[in-house]
Amino acid sequence: MRNNVAVLSVVVTMAMAVGAGATELTRDPHVRPANQQGAALMAEGQEKSQTVRDLATKLDQSDLVVYVVTASRAPNAPDSAIRFVGRSKAQRFVLVQISNETRPDQRIELLAHELQHAVEAARSTWVNDNHTLGMLFAHIGWKDPSKQGGYETTAASLIGRQARRELVANGR
Ligand SMILES: [Zn+2]
Repeated sequence: MRNNVAVLSVVVTMAMAVGAGATELTRDPHVRPANQQGAALMAEGQEKSQTVRDLATKLDQSDLVVYVVTASRAPNAPDSAIRFVGRSKAQRFVLVQISNETRPDQRIELLAHELQHAVEAARSTWVNDNHTLGMLFAHIGWKDPSKQGGYETTAASLIGRQARRELVANGR
């Protein structure tokens, strides 16, 4: 998984380098898959969850670009995580990882949860690396040692639950 992450970082960095040219301020979606499973998850999430669609719209209107990858999880790693991967003059880039060892509906819930964290980062323009991203969650979140970075935010918890309710309602 570590190697996987390293490879993905390179992919994202390359995507950023391409994006750093004249096309930087295109209307391309700001939530982008970084692998095939991530693309499948995004498609399913946007189809089944209004919450996921709303979060993607919010992110489209920000300077934050989110790459989504679904992959196997490293030992002791959380089921989902967000981290800062870089920035250009006009945009900031984060990577959201979702474990493929979770149930499909749970993955959509985790996607909504992490996209809410991305929205939190998007609103905080001073967040420009992993350190400041961690500072943001420590500032707006509450201590939860079981979570990534040791903090969780109320908004992300609620958004995850909201997405879960939508999936349950759709499944009826
Ligand atoms: Zn969280």
